[in-house]
Amino acid sequence: GDLPGADQVRAVVDDAYQRYRTDTSGTVADYIPVLGKASPDLFGIYVVGARGQSYGVGDVETTFSIQSVSKPFVFALACHQVGYDAARHKLGVNGTGFPFDSLIAVELNPARTMNPLVNAGAIAATSLLAGDTAEEKWQTVRTGLSMFAGRELTMSTEVYESETATNRRNRGIAQVLESYGRLYFDPEAATDVYTRQCSLEVTARDLAVMAATLANGGMNPVTGVQVLAPGVCRRVLAVMAIAGLYELSGDWLYEIGMPGKSGVSGGIVTVSPGKGGLATYSPPLDDAGNSVRGQLATKYLAERLGLNLFASE
Ligand code: GLN
Repeated sequence: GDLPGADQVRAVVDDAYQRYRTDTSGTVADYIPVLGKASPDLFGIYVVGARGQSYGVGDVETTFSIQSVSKPFVFALACHQVGYDAARHKLGVNGTGFPFDSLIAVELNPARTMNPLVNAGAIAATSLLAGDTAEEKWQTVRTGLSMFAGRELTMSTEVYESETATNRRNRGIAQVLESYGRLYFDPEAATDVYTRQCSLEVTARDLAVMAATLANGGMNPVTGVQVLAPGVCRRVLAVMAIAGLYELSGDWLYEIGMPGKSGVSGGIVTVSPGKGGLATYSPPLDDAGNSVRGQLATKYLAERLGLNLFASE
């Protein structure tokens, strides 16, 4: 399959934007203080087809910190480093049913694993990356995510400093994982690399290219670079289907029928395997931390473009 024709995709993207731009529900995250400064009016939608065709509307060039949308891509890099089988045993691939920063989830699972899309598993995934030092691991993240985006990504120092000043909970999670032998690098250093990772600046367009790379068997359709092996790509999508929208991942799959990943700055990526990548950006979030307009717009695109993976025709 392929996306519908260019005129139809463009019309549906514009339509989704007009329908939901006036929706004012949700709250901008402020537990990381600097995120609270984002305008609740920002809204952008971008689609990149698996052959590189692209469509965007709204605030698609506005930069924001990637936050948890980094997690599936860093998991991909961890699989590349240790193999997807070892990554599964070291990180886990099952849903927790708990919020993204849950400690209870770590305590309740006898294996002490979660999945790489909640904070505990994500910090553990970062700890597995190539590099003997924190600086080397950080370069692995930055260059790896830049290959997914097809351009050089840089970190927001303002976001990094704001989160570093307030991330005691993530540091605690890393210490607890270490106590169970489920962290694979120094806890303070792993948390620091993870915090840098979350502070990488992207646009909705970047996220759509990153998603399209996952939709295209790991080959970036814009640059033509094979970023990861198809066998890893499939498994990253499986974990996104299980846990991409935190404790609302079941609701998301029920409504939208595609793997996705949200972040607290307001981004969501969605992958239609073989067809393309979707990205939305809008800061107001629901109670679980998922962009409200992003979910509405993605559901509309999924239905109008026929992207639900569980549909027979
Ligand atoms: N950096 C954020 C945190 O660790 C990411 C969370 C998110 O986007 N859900 O709290």
